[in-house]
Amino acid sequence: MAKCKYCQKDVTWMKEGRKNVPVEGDGGIHKCEQMENMRNSLKKLEPKTLSAEEIAKYEKAMNDNVKEKGTGRKS
Ligand SMILES: [Zn+2]
Repeated sequence: MAKCKYCQKDVTWMKEGRKNVPVEGDGGIHKCEQMENMRNSLKKLEPKTLSAEEIAKYEKAMNDNVKEKGTGRKS
């Protein structure tokens, strides 16, 4: 037995694929408002942090840095 970290209700954490799912005593998947709110706020953040455009920009900046350093050392 464990407690839901959002609403403190007793739940059992079951492994389902890669993620842990909280299950209530009756076998149903536990859901609560606090957890939903947390997930919704994470969903809003994820696209921003995982933006392919941002990653491409970051990688380009890294490559440019390496190139600049490389030519600087050669000349
Ligand atoms: Zn809960």
